[in-house]
Amino acid sequence: MKKILHLLENILAFFYPHICVSCLRALKQKEQFFCLKCLHQLPETHYHELEHNPLIYNFMGRVNVENIYSFLFYRKGNSVQSILHQIKYKGGKELASFLGSYYGKQLIDHQNLEDIDFLIPIPLHKKKEKKRGYNQSEWLVKGFSEAINKPYLNTVLIRKEFTETQTKKGRFNRWENVKDVFEVIQPEQIKNKHILICDDVLTTGATLEAAIVKLKEVEGVRVSVITLAVAG
Ligand SMILES: [Zn+2]
Repeated sequence: MKKILHLLENILAFFYPHICVSCLRALKQKEQFFCLKCLHQLPETHYHELEHNPLIYNFMGRVNVENIYSFLFYRKGNSVQSILHQIKYKGGKELASFLGSYYGKQLIDHQNLEDIDFLIPIPLHKKKEKKRGYNQSEWLVKGFSEAINKPYLNTVLIRKEFTETQTKKGRFNRWENVKDVFEVIQPEQIKNKHILICDDVLTTGATLEAAIVKLKEVEGVRVSVITLAVAG
């Protein structure tokens, strides 16, 4: 039976090959989403391995965060730009979850995350989520959460207003746009907790900052940040 299944799998793979999301070559058995070569060539920051993680300067003078973890460098035209695009617009929710898990496993080798109570994804506006069919940050969180063995909450932080795509706006305008878009409901659930908030990419940090400020309005809340990618 096992042999037959294996044969069927090979026949299926011949007609419907799984391809590497980066180089588009057919994947070998046991490879998932990326061929081994592309997986090893991902532009990893390795910041979580350093004693002095430079990412901490991202929110300095704006809001206090405990720690910041970002897996990959996002640069215009690099493979991460394409990965982020696939995660957001091409239904790549399983890819998000895979990468979250892949990074989470590396993270726990170098960082003590015992102090974290919950992960929280940056919420999308409901209309946007409905259009896209899913929230990419939530799928990233599923991967992180499974790998670091911490639960996630997606009901505490909500997004109130619809904001336009903010990519072409300056930092000041972005902040004006996002500063009041988040709201914490059921604050008692996160009182005195250490939260790991998750987004797909850290660029200006305005969206994350707005969310962190809201979370920290709840008594005793500490926040760390985890993102799949960071601009740099
Ligand atoms: Zn590849």
